[in-house]
Amino acid sequence: MAGKVISQFVCFLGLLSLYLTFINMTSYFSPEYVRDIAPYQAGKPIAEVAREFGLNERDIIKLASNENPLGMAQSARQAVANMLQEGARYPDANGFELKAALSNMLDVPQNWLTLGNGSNDVLELAAHAFLQPGRSAMYSQYAFAVYALASQAVGAKAQVVPATTSLGHDLATMQSMLASSPADLLFIANPNNPTGTFIDGDVLYRFIAAVPKQTVVVLDEAYTEYLRAEQGYNSVAWVKEFANLLVVRTFSKAYGLAGLRLGYGVAQSGLTDLLNRVRQPFNANSMVLAAALAVLQDKSYLQQSATLNREQMGVYEQALSSLGLGFIPSSGNFVLVNVKKLGGGKAVFTALLQRGIIVRPVDNYGLTDYVRISIGLPEENRRCLSALAALVNEQSV
Ligand SMILES: *Cc1c(COP(=O)(O)O)cnc(C)c1O
Repeated sequence: MAGKVISQFVCFLGLLSLYLTFINMTSYFSPEYVRDIAPYQAGKPIAEVAREFGLNERDIIKLASNENPLGMAQSARQAVANMLQEGARYPDANGFELKAALSNMLDVPQNWLTLGNGSNDVLELAAHAFLQPGRSAMYSQYAFAVYALASQAVGAKAQVVPATTSLGHDLATMQSMLASSPADLLFIANPNNPTGTFIDGDVLYRFIAAVPKQTVVVLDEAYTEYLRAEQGYNSVAWVKEFANLLVVRTFSKAYGLAGLRLGYGVAQSGLTDLLNRVRQPFNANSMVLAAALAVLQDKSYLQQSATLNREQMGVYEQALSSLGLGFIPSSGNFVLVNVKKLGGGKAVFTALLQRGIIVRPVDNYGLTDYVRISIGLPEENRRCLSALAALVNEQSV
């Protein structure tokens, strides 16, 4: 009996010391600011839901990552197919052809362009080039999660600006915070994800003009192609005026290349040169360079994407209103829906998963009352909305 107790105690001590070693080693391996990072929570993949719920992949719809529901453009598929034979060669480290096309489209010199492995990469390049421990980044509460991740990964401090009551960027507060303690890097998402909130171009212009010149402004326009004509503004023209402005865009959303990864930054050559110093030489692969060049010239795909999104956003707005579910008016390809009366975001996320519909919980943003739903194809949206209607009905019986 005593022997057993002793051997159990020895075993416990062994496990305890292993555990302590592990704790010590992880703190040894990495600085505290890295250990403090809460990893990015991606949209749940279709294959994972199929495994977990015993569903057929074909019966699952994913409205969780703001992907283009039309799928990759035919023009882009053809371009990749043609490029496959070059797969054994390194890509063009400078992306000459694509930059030439972008330079032409945006009317800026090629040395104002930075290509990235998704625009996420460009955001990280900015964090690496302009931040370090002791420096600070500023962004809005409920702004895109990558701003916090990228800043934390390089040890910078974060200044988080409280959002407006409609969950958007509060530029007035941001301006006064900048005045009292200027940040080194300021992130603005327009439209913002996950809220879909939008800042008018003239308001944004006046704000950027008043930002201290030593603060680099990253204007993240991942959804700019979805803006309605009357919302349009020309931020690339502002880049010509402001040496501290970096406009960031992506091929992941309206251009339908999320899986291939390409984003780009537009800034004057001074900033661009700094970004280029911390960039991996082959961060944009040859398949995506070819695909992006093709889809950039495929005006009909882009137009179809924007039109479908606009129509279907209208469908959501109407249906959500008649279900009595609140939502934040969105300028993106997704909508943030208040599901508090259905038990909150996590509950609705799970209830929809069981029906084979993947949406995005946003509790990691502190938005526990909401789910974010990406605008899909008409039949996907119908299915999602009728599942929400069923949840509303269940609630009211
Ligand atoms: C989706 C998204 C991005 C990044 O997308 P990439 O696929 O890395 O280009 C950047 N910013 C915002 C606000 C986004 O929603």
